[in-house]
Amino acid sequence: MVGFGYDSHKLVDGKPLLLGGIRIESDKGALAHSDGDVVLHSLCDSMLGASGLGDIGELFPDDDIQYKGADSSIFVSEILKMLHERSLIVNNVDITILLEKPKLKSYKESIRNNISKLIKIPVERINIKAKTNEGMGFIGKMEGIACYCICEIQKKASD
Ligand code: MG
Repeated sequence: MVGFGYDSHKLVDGKPLLLGGIRIESDKGALAHSDGDVVLHSLCDSMLGASGLGDIGELFPDDDIQYKGADSSIFVSEILKMLHERSLIVNNVDITILLEKPKLKSYKESIRNNISKLIKIPVERINIKAKTNEGMGFIGKMEGIACYCICEIQKKASD
């Protein structure tokens, strides 16, 4: 089964920027209830989409005080647990990050490795792409960041 996820956050001065659980050196960071990690949020929604389990906002509401400043890797782990309880495993993940600057080239491998650890699949099954928006729109003007994620999940082979 295939699932799709999308997330975006406003970028503001003086906030940390976290992508895939990795801290990015940037003047601006995401304004959010949780840590605002668009990569992990879109990953969560793609996993929920593929398994027919709803969306991240239903599971971890942004008006719930317990998720204020939350480390988004907690959301990924909780969702992975839900999948495993249903004998589902993630086959592969493909992520596209939209950010005007900084360039993410030097961070891609760390993001990939961290996601591999979080969802417990080999790094070869995770792909990270980063794009600017050629100066256009809210991404281009550095008003925000967005991320798309697609993943495939499958039933664990019975042993
Ligand atoms: Mg989000």
